[in-house]
Amino acid sequence: MVDTVDIKTGYSCNNDCYHCVIADKRRELIKNGRKVDRSTEEVIHHINEATMEGAESIVLTGGEITIRGDFFQLVEYALSKGLTVIIQTNGKMFYYEEFAKRIASYDKVHLTVALHSPKPEVHDRITGSKNSFKQTTEGIRNLKKHGIGNRVGGKIVMSKMNYKDLPELIKLAHNLGLMSVNIAFPHAMGNAQLNFYDCVPKYSEIKNYILKTIRKSLELKMYIDFEAMPLCFLPGYETFASEFRLSEHTELRDLTHIDPNYTKTRKTKAKVKDPKCTRCKLYLLCEGCWDDYAEGYDTTELTPIPGQYIRDPRMLESFKIHPVPIYKKNINTVTSEKTPFQLK
Ligand code: SF4
Repeated sequence: MVDTVDIKTGYSCNNDCYHCVIADKRRELIKNGRKVDRSTEEVIHHINEATMEGAESIVLTGGEITIRGDFFQLVEYALSKGLTVIIQTNGKMFYYEEFAKRIASYDKVHLTVALHSPKPEVHDRITGSKNSFKQTTEGIRNLKKHGIGNRVGGKIVMSKMNYKDLPELIKLAHNLGLMSVNIAFPHAMGNAQLNFYDCVPKYSEIKNYILKTIRKSLELKMYIDFEAMPLCFLPGYETFASEFRLSEHTELRDLTHIDPNYTKTRKTKAKVKDPKCTRCKLYLLCEGCWDDYAEGYDTTELTPIPGQYIRDPRMLESFKIHPVPIYKKNINTVTSEKTPFQLK
């Protein structure tokens, strides 16, 4: 059964990130004279279908959903269907206090806000939008001020422009009151594909910064995880891989296509490993890397870890410091008042 339905409401955005994965689709639609956003009725239709399929939660994303005139209408409609609503956003609209106050008032709404550098000028360069750092950070402050609690988390897309600053960025997120941050390795589609060698770092290049970032998060008692990191690049911290926390069955409703089982597509087509990975004890738990990474570079950096196959993440040593929640998957904010560190 579907757990989560990921609905792309459209591709319009008030940023133009150099790692944006949908920028090429938006350009293509515009070139062909087609609309880049779904109508209200179309989004409602997808919400209805998600409900009929038995989904517990939906992800609403864009582009940037908060710039739609029907933003609150869509959120309220999804809530009226009993769904938990997860919104991925650049957070700029929450700079406007009334806007932040209204979204913070809904109990079953979780926000994932993108923040890409602790340095304002670097964040603005990554987003292609002047003053976006100021708007996003103020937006997070407003959400916290109006009682969103731990239902807001951070999202960082790492790149060549920011990986050295990840520990500082975690510290900034902590100072802003975020208890959880998901850090994604760039998926080289859209602008990230165009800017591949300027944007996508090699795993071996970032490994030490990843470990420093994890240690910083433990020091701050923050909840972080990493998307699209092969487990051999998280030595001793394998359960920090976000894939362990994703829903078992996500359906993707993009503007250009519907994938009834994106989870399976991700694991079996979009991610690849090296032939030598079959000799790795983490082979059955690990998804490897994005296929576009293997095309742009290669998979020689992936390093098998000798030993008997491990089938359950609870058998990993790192489970003790960062347990994988068995419930509430696909919500990367802390869903309890207690952090995972307190839950131990
Ligand atoms: S060697 Fe392959 S299977 Fe093992 S952790 Fe690395 S990518 Fe995963």
